[in-house]
Amino acid sequence: MKKVVKFGGSSLASAEQFMKVGDIIRADESRRYVIPSAPGKRDSSDTKVTDMLYRCYELAENGQPFNKQLNQIKERYNEIIHGLKLDMTLNDEFEVIKKQFTAKAGSMYAASRGEYLNGKIMAKYLNYDFIDAANVIRFHRDGSFDAETTDHLLSEHLSASERAVIPGFYGSMKNGTIVTFSRGGSDITGSLVAKAVKANLYENWTDVSGFLVADPRIIRDSAVIHTITYMELRELAYMGASVLHEDAIFPVRKAGIPINIRNTNAPDDDGTMIVASTCRIPKYTITGIAGKKGFVAVNIEKDMMNAEIGFCRKVLGAFEDNGISIEHMPSGIDTMTVFVDQQEFEDKEQKVISEIQDSVHPDTIDLESDLALIAVVGRGMKSTRGTAGRLFSALAHAHINVKMIDQGSSELNIIIGVKNEDFNDAIKAIYDIFVVAQL
Ligand code: ASP
Repeated sequence: MKKVVKFGGSSLASAEQFMKVGDIIRADESRRYVIPSAPGKRDSSDTKVTDMLYRCYELAENGQPFNKQLNQIKERYNEIIHGLKLDMTLNDEFEVIKKQFTAKAGSMYAASRGEYLNGKIMAKYLNYDFIDAANVIRFHRDGSFDAETTDHLLSEHLSASERAVIPGFYGSMKNGTIVTFSRGGSDITGSLVAKAVKANLYENWTDVSGFLVADPRIIRDSAVIHTITYMELRELAYMGASVLHEDAIFPVRKAGIPINIRNTNAPDDDGTMIVASTCRIPKYTITGIAGKKGFVAVNIEKDMMNAEIGFCRKVLGAFEDNGISIEHMPSGIDTMTVFVDQQEFEDKEQKVISEIQDSVHPDTIDLESDLALIAVVGRGMKSTRGTAGRLFSALAHAHINVKMIDQGSSELNIIIGVKNEDFNDAIKAIYDIFVVAQL
C-alpha cells in the first residue's frame, strides 16, 4: 500500500499544525510521499506566506528595499522551526533568496520559495528525503506543463526513495528557470506524484472534512459528501464549488487513483472519496448543489427560426468573434437563449447584438441581466423517478420563478436559471427537499 499525502497551507501554518501533520503521517506507514504547501493563514487576519513572497518580490523588482519584508517571512519559518525544536537553520537559504530577489529572478521563483522552504522543514521533521520539485516537475520553454518528462523524472527519482517530501506548486524548465502552477497548484503536484508512484490513494489534507453538499455560506452545517465521482466533481467545480484545484483531477483520474479529501484538524473524519465510478448508493438523490451569480440571458426570437439552416451557428459566431464563452443555450421552436457571463459580456454587448442583427435578422433580441445558474448534480438522479418534479415543486413552494431549465442527457445534472436575488433561497429549497427531507 502506497499513499501520497498533500497538506494545504492552513495545515502547515504553525508548529502546532505541523505536529498534527506529523502525527497523521506517522499513524500510517503507507503515507510515504508528502507534498507540502507553503504556510497559510494562522487565523483569518493572517497573511499566507505565498502572498508575503509576492509582495516582497514586487518591492525587489521595483528596486525598493525589501529586507524588512523578507525578514518577516523568515520569522514565520523560524517560529515553526523553534516550535518543533528542530536543529536546523534557513540562514543560507535566505541569503540565496535575497541574492536572487536582487537579481530579479522572477515572481514565480519568489512564490515557489514558500513551498521549497516548508518542504525543507518537513523533510527534517519527518526524517524523510527532500526532493526539490525543480528536479522532477518539468515545464516547456513556453511555460506550459510537460506531463511526459515530469512523469518520467518523478518515477525515476521516487523509485530511489522509500519516503520523500516533494514541495508542491512549482517545477522548472530544462534550463533551471522556476515555473509555478496557478494558485492552489500544490494539489496538482500531489496528483502528479500519485500517478508517477502508482499510489493506491491520494490523500489531500485540508481544513474541512470533505466536499460539502452545498456552500456553507448559504447552508450552515451542510452535510458532507461521502463519495463523489470525478464527473460529478467536475460539474460542481465548474459551478464554483472548490476544495481542490481543477487540474489536480486529470492525472489521477487517468490512472484510476482515488482522491480522499481529509481534515487535518479532524483526522478521524472519513472525508470525501473522489472516485472514477462507484456502486455505492448515494445517501441522498443528489450529490451536491453549486451555482454562480452574474449571468445575462440573450433571448433571440424569429418566426420560422427552426427552418433556417445555420441560424444557431451564425448567432454563436457573433459570441465567438468577440471572445465570449457561452454557458448554456436553452432553445424553443422560434426562440433561442444564450447565457453568458455578465461582466464578460457588458463591454461587448453592442458589438455582439449588431453582429447578430446583421447575420440572422431576428424579430427581437432582448437581454435579461442579473441571473444566476444553479447546478443540481448527482449520479443518483438517473435511477430515481420524479427528481425534477420534486425539485421544481420545492422551488415553487419557495416562490422562486425558474427562468431556465437544462438537463444534460447523462441525467447527471439539472441546471436551473433564477434571478440573482433568489439564488440563496433556491439553494436552501433544493437542499431542504433532497437532504433535510432525505427524498
Ligand atoms: N502556496 C500556493 C498558494 O497559496 C500554492 C498552494 O498552496 O497550493 O496558492
